[in-house]
Amino acid sequence: MWDPVAYALGFIDCDNISARCMLTIFALFATKTEASLLRMLKGSPDVYLSGPIRKYITDKGGRFHLRWGCREILYDKAANAETYVKGLAMSKATDKKVVQADAYVAACDVPGIKRLLPSSWREMKFFNNIYALVGVPVVTVQLRYNGWVTELQDLERSRQLRRALGLDNLLYTPDADFSCFADLALTSPEDYYREGQGSLLQCVLTPGDPYMPLPNDEIIRRVAKQVGFSSISIIPRFRSYLVVCCQNRAIFVP
Ligand SMILES: Cc1cc2nc3c(=O)[nH]c(=O)nc-3n(C[C@H](O)[C@H](O)[C@H](O)COP(=O)(O)OP(=O)(O)OC[C@H]3O[C@@H](n4cnc5c(N)ncnc54)[C@H](O)[C@@H]3O)c2cc1C
Repeated sequence: MWDPVAYALGFIDCDNISARCMLTIFALFATKTEASLLRMLKGSPDVYLSGPIRKYITDKGGRFHLRWGCREILYDKAANAETYVKGLAMSKATDKKVVQADAYVAACDVPGIKRLLPSSWREMKFFNNIYALVGVPVVTVQLRYNGWVTELQDLERSRQLRRALGLDNLLYTPDADFSCFADLALTSPEDYYREGQGSLLQCVLTPGDPYMPLPNDEIIRRVAKQVGFSSISIIPRFRSYLVVCCQNRAIFVP
């Protein structure tokens, strides 16, 4: 049971996750009786998370330059031999420019920062440590059903589409390749509940390695089977799907 919790927290197993993450979550479960309820955003992250952050920044005069890639960090050495950044070489299709700022922050994904850092900076331990980070493949699958998959008490109620029913929570399982899942139609209904449709089950597959080379149809077949509902005719069947494969969670390999 430990690995599913570790996978759900950080997409990595107990051997690799920091003990601090595990201690924090179990201390929470042990001390807060209401802690078994994990709330999620009301709707899509763009509307309820990144959108408000973007608005906060633009309201204060900040600007976003989207689709510009940073190709090179321009740097020099000061008289005291300290390295300082003097600009970023940016490009967008065939357009190029150099931007200068008072401060520079790189919030890249792990493969991105490895490509961007000047190779000579690896002489500095701080930057060299970044090359010990390795991306962990993660696959997310969304399955839309024609009923309510987490309504387990009453089969008739799980088959109707007049009212959303089931478990409004982030759920964990040790019995499937997906360690955590949620019915987004219940947890984040503003954008994901659709009238006349049922559950939108989001399953996070970790480790995603065995799934990465598979075609979408095969990923869906395996996940739907593990959800355990698609083969039983009285229980909802899935109607549509979305699969996202990515490699953006990092673990430290000493
Ligand atoms: C399958 C999956 C499911 C997840 N589910 C959840 C969830 O339900 N809830 C939750 O809170 N978190 C979730 N997470 C975690 C969350 O997505 C990450 O923690 C978060 O996206 C990290 O944000 P970030 O800005 O640090 O990095 P990223 O989102 O990885 O952003 C880094 C950006 O840098 C850009 N970049 C890289 N190099 C350059 C360059 N040279 N020039 C310009 N841009 C560059 C990349 O294109 C990328 O857009 C999930 C992650 C995965 C993989």
